Amino acid sequence: MNHNMTDTIVALSTPQGQGAIGVIRLSGKQAIEIVNSTFFAKDLLAVPANTVHFGKIRDEEGRVLDECVVTIFKAPHSYTKEDVVEISCHGSPYILDQVIQLMLRKGARMADRGEFTLRAFLNGQMDLSQAEAVADLIASENASSHELAIRQMRGGFSDQISALRQELIDFAALIELELDFGEEDVEFADRGKLENLVEEIQGVIKKLVDSFHLGNVIKKGVATVIAGRPNAGKSTLLNALLNEERAIVSEIAGTTRDTIEESMNINGIKFRLVDTAGIREAQDSIEKIGVERTLSEIGKSTVVIYVFDVWQTKPEELWEDVERFLSASRALTKGSKQLFVANKMDLNPYTKPEDYYKEGLIGAENLITASALNKMNIEAIKNELYRIVIENPDLMDQTIVTNSRHYDALHKALQSLDAVLVGLQGGITGDFIAMDIRQALHHLGLITGEIHTDDLLDSIFGRFCIGK
Ligand code: GDP
Repeated sequence: MNHNMTDTIVALSTPQGQGAIGVIRLSGKQAIEIVNSTFFAKDLLAVPANTVHFGKIRDEEGRVLDECVVTIFKAPHSYTKEDVVEISCHGSPYILDQVIQLMLRKGARMADRGEFTLRAFLNGQMDLSQAEAVADLIASENASSHELAIRQMRGGFSDQISALRQELIDFAALIELELDFGEEDVEFADRGKLENLVEEIQGVIKKLVDSFHLGNVIKKGVATVIAGRPNAGKSTLLNALLNEERAIVSEIAGTTRDTIEESMNINGIKFRLVDTAGIREAQDSIEKIGVERTLSEIGKSTVVIYVFDVWQTKPEELWEDVERFLSASRALTKGSKQLFVANKMDLNPYTKPEDYYKEGLIGAENLITASALNKMNIEAIKNELYRIVIENPDLMDQTIVTNSRHYDALHKALQSLDAVLVGLQGGITGDFIAMDIRQALHHLGLITGEIHTDDLLDSIFGRFCIGK
């Protein structure tokens, strides 16, 4: 990838193909000059920043390529902090291509993937985690992942990380100063204070690391399994949940027969409903083939909807089944959430839900009576699913890590800080402590881009589209 910042770059910033308009963007020292040499309405070099101009773009022979609207941004008040010109043309692929070719002949260079955002980063417009959020924002498919990306782009946890990093830098500097005094046995850096700081930072990082699971859940969809005995009404409930949502049905490659995944959207949160055919046979005998994968499906899920038939099921039977399935799948120990659906209420309308309550497992907060067949209380089930995700205390915390690169760096920073603590507690010499602090600083710096390598930038910006 080209990290040369002296060139003026050009690219189509709207999607390929026909459209009402297409926007071509240029950024760099010569951006205005290059466009001006093709634009004949007025002298763009003389116009003020943030202004819009209508005119014709002509090629070298004076042929009119298009009538366009040109917007002028001047450094540093632009997306890239460089001079930027956006040309809004008619959205014909032919015209757009002709205009771009003309800009190239006039001295611009074709932009690489993500190069506009790369420049924004290198010019200090945003930090690396914010730049990555731009890519997430473009790719976001639903309201909640969109919200996460926006939060991150506006700063997210970068400020937090930067502040903590600065405190660590100060300590590292003090410890390194001690080293300069060699034999003299001085201590500028208060070990007790440093220990407190490290613990405080670890606390913050741990929270961020923990939020990763949840962040991913929101981005990829909440894995939800519908479980229960045969004939409890699982498929009927699945259909009732999906019908109203016109679900997208997708088959997971490689598991053609027995796993179908469908997704539905509740108030902007995506739920992936995993329907395992195995569950059906698995119920009556826990030894049967298929039970393994059923349990593993339940074990992987964030939410289990456990359906039972109020006509057929006595409370004791329900408790026994639930304990058996949920503990065998480790859903109980893993802390996934359970929603119990007392189904077929139409057959047994006088059922008292309280009869099914069991301390610590089933109660008013997670039991819903329903009739999947008659679509009774389906809305309530959806509301409950939504609430389970939204009321997750981790989600209330404003900062959520969604990016696996950040997760990895946070994890490594945590390990280095562990080493610092062990060193402090073991009375290890300053040079080793300083080394571990530097290591932690390195990992934290990778998140915000205070430390970066060309390879890292290539892998991040290479995922962008051209023109962004
Ligand atoms: P699964 O084996 O758990 O997937 O159960 P199904 O969804 O296939 O349902 C088994 C039978 O129960 C079917 O005949 C359904 O029509 C019926 N059923 C499902 N939900 C209800 C309900 O709420 N009320 C009544 N009366 N029948 C239901």
